[in-house]
Amino acid sequence: MQSLLQKLGLQANNRGSCFGSDGWISNDDGGLIISTNPTTGEIIGTVETASSKSYEQVLSEASKSFLEWREVPSPQRGQLIRDLGNALRENLEPLGELISLEMGKILPEGVGEVQEMIDICDFAVGLSRQLYGLTMHSERPGHRMYEQWHPIGPVGVITAFNFPGAPWAWNAAIAAVCGDTIVWKPSEITPLTAVAIQNITNQVMAEHETRGIFNLLVGNGPSIGQTLVDDKRIPLISFTGSISTGRKVSKQVATRLGRTILELGGNNAIIVTQDADIDLTVKAVLFGSVGTAGQRCTTTRRLIVHSSIVDKLINRLIEAYASVSIGDPLDDNTLMGPMVNEGAVSNMLNAVQRALDNDGILLYGGKRLPEIGSLFVEPTIIRMREQTPLVCEETFAPILYIMDYEQLEDAINMHNSVPQGLSSAIFTSNINTAENFLSVGGSDCGIANVNIGTSGAEIGGAFGGEKDTGGGRESGSDAWKGYMRRQTVTINWTNDLPLSQGIKFTGTEQD
Ligand code: NAD
Repeated sequence: MQSLLQKLGLQANNRGSCFGSDGWISNDDGGLIISTNPTTGEIIGTVETASSKSYEQVLSEASKSFLEWREVPSPQRGQLIRDLGNALRENLEPLGELISLEMGKILPEGVGEVQEMIDICDFAVGLSRQLYGLTMHSERPGHRMYEQWHPIGPVGVITAFNFPGAPWAWNAAIAAVCGDTIVWKPSEITPLTAVAIQNITNQVMAEHETRGIFNLLVGNGPSIGQTLVDDKRIPLISFTGSISTGRKVSKQVATRLGRTILELGGNNAIIVTQDADIDLTVKAVLFGSVGTAGQRCTTTRRLIVHSSIVDKLINRLIEAYASVSIGDPLDDNTLMGPMVNEGAVSNMLNAVQRALDNDGILLYGGKRLPEIGSLFVEPTIIRMREQTPLVCEETFAPILYIMDYEQLEDAINMHNSVPQGLSSAIFTSNINTAENFLSVGGSDCGIANVNIGTSGAEIGGAFGGEKDTGGGRESGSDAWKGYMRRQTVTINWTNDLPLSQGIKFTGTEQD
């Protein structure tokens, strides 16, 4: 473990506030955050939390750096992101391993998360030459009208524990080519990954003889997170986390008329029709519901299955679940690691009990696995007669609820009858059914897949969801527009002043 930490520039105790190259600040009065390995309960390291003094230093540096960075032509900003992508490539394995160690996801998923960070850097490099604005035809003769996009300012990025790196990269790579500086408040559960990433950005900023573009503030949500949310110097807060915290953040930022990008919880379902390919469905459900121990925002939590195949599918799923090896996420054979902490385990066990108290039938799992470690649980399948209020909640754990349906319309209604609207999928071999699911009356989610599970989105598309998921979009497509301010420009190149809508406003000196 020590050699891994060394490779990533980490020590036993690390500073948690940074405003750029060589900019680590001591936080004498800030307190310490302890990072523990959820697999063993051992301490991996500690990080100093940002104090109010270091907060001010970081914010003023990020604001000052913004004034310089916004003047750098965006294709040149892209060069820095190209080098960031390459630096992440060099650190693919160790950073992936640290994510697995600190968060508990299996190594291929940890490495995959870093790959996603690299992919978004590549995307952002191309984007740096494509921050296009539209040109419009003016209704007035001799007038030209167009829109241009300017950087918005230092952007606050607050992230969740389950993806300690990728959501930072989705925000940071795009915001940086847009000309913004970034102030990151990572989850207090995964602070070492954040410090390791900051070390990588420090090296890249130093190579470019710049500082203050990527900044870090380690600390608790209600203290440092809250301060950032209330800070008027931050025009945009991009928040990834639970619906309950997101609701508070959204209200507070709205009170100061700031902007938010909200990426909140999901309660994702797969509809399985009578003509679905069962082999494909089983593989997708297994990855979607067991992957990351059910701790992905896009985890498959509900399965809505045609009644004619529900028993067959359940049998196949039980068989597949029984083959899942549970254990140390760094072992090659492991498919499911631990839950992140005791709170997550007890939330899961409470949900299982509530489901059983409400006519649920336990088909698989439902228990702790203390022989492996205190945070290990069995992936769980519960058959429900109907979609109860419990099923409509996001329990951040590997519980899969199975309901059945007769008519596609009922399946789509059940699918949409939850407060969240992140990811959705249908398994079918009938094109009409697939198109029905994708039509305006079909899935109400931000992501809708056909014959692909709910988790594992690519960076090229805009990522995010509707309803209680918050409505934000990050990553690919035109999500970059969220990190810039739009300016509509009209130029009159004549000696006349025609008014729009044909209004005549003539004084006595005119005809
Ligand atoms: P959380 O809401 O507990 O914490 C998220 C972040 O908010 C952390 O950095 C935390 O310190 C901070 N925070 C807490 N209180 C705050 C406050 N008052 N002001 C400002 N910041 C505050 O979420 P979590 O348990 O870390 O993550 C799991 C949740 O995140 C799940 O609901 C999951 O679905 C969601 N999530 C969503 C996405 C997405 O893209 N939609 C991605 C990952 C996770």
